[in-house]
Order: sequence, then structure tokens, then C-alpha cells
Amino acid sequence: MAEEDRKMSRRAFLKGATSLAKVAGISVLLDRRVLAAKLASKETVHYQWKPNGDEQCSSCLNFRAGPKPNSIGACHVVEGQIAPNGWCIAFSPNI
Ligand code: SF4
Repeated sequence: MAEEDRKMSRRAFLKGATSLAKVAGISVLLDRRVLAAKLASKETVHYQWKPNGDEQCSSCLNFRAGPKPNSIGACHVVEGQIAPNGWCIAFSPNI
């Protein structure tokens, strides 16, 4: 293979790899937006900032704990900040 052909081949490879990386990056960005868009609003799930009997977010499968046990966390299905002692109708016991 001639030196010029090798340079062209390398250039074509790098161009293709760059395009692939851009597409992958856009895909990840879109996935995140789709995931964010799928979270339910607090109103939809009747979120409340207090427990419902012995059910609360900290004992729910969907809860994503904050940095400390009593700090605000998040939820896999409900948008925004979620208190560990909050509750909603999507509660799923973490047993
Ligand atoms: S699904 Fe409801 S109860 Fe469970 S963590 Fe999310 S907001 Fe709290």
C-alpha cells in the first residue's frame, strides 16, 4: 500500500470514528431526555411530603437516596426532589 493510500485510509477511519462518536453522543443525550420526560409529576402520583402510615419513600424500591440518610433524594419514577419520609401512590415496598 502506498504511503498516500495509507494516509487516506487512516483519515477515512478517523472520520468514520468521529462520526460514530457524535452519533453515540447524540443518542445518549436523547436517551437521557426521554428518560427525564418519562418521570411522572408529583401531582400525577399524589406525592406528599409525609409518610402514609408505615409506608415512605426510604422503604420504596424506587427511591434514590441522597448523600445522607435524612437528606433529600430522588426517585426512579417521579420527577424532582424526593424526601425519604415522603410517599406517593407508586409506592413499591422494598422487601
Ligand atoms: S415511587 Fe413514590 S413512594 Fe416510591 S420513592 Fe418514588 S415518590 Fe417515593
